[in-house]
Amino acid sequence: MTVSLPGTANLFGGGRRWPGRVTDLRISDVPGTPLTAWRVVEGVLHVRFGDGARDDILVCVCDRRHWIVETRAIGGRGVLLVKCHGCGTARDLPLAAP
Ligand SMILES: [Zn+2]
Repeated sequence: MTVSLPGTANLFGGGRRWPGRVTDLRISDVPGTPLTAWRVVEGVLHVRFGDGARDDILVCVCDRRHWIVETRAIGGRGVLLVKCHGCGTARDLPLAAP
């Protein structure tokens, strides 16, 4: 389900849009599949899982979309560590092998 919040209308400012459909993804609904792509657009984390063409905006349990993002190698695997700016919810997302 896509949720519209005040202030998000200009997220892609200037008429530029990230290709493909962008939907909200709750941190609690993150799939177990590796993260194949991610980027931060104006402080909002966009993620892509598996081979899907769809991109998701990662949304915290507290409804915030701003994450502290850090990449790290753990046990030989790349991991994207995300931590909510607001409530501190943290999660590590495995990255797909390059
Ligand atoms: Zn939060």
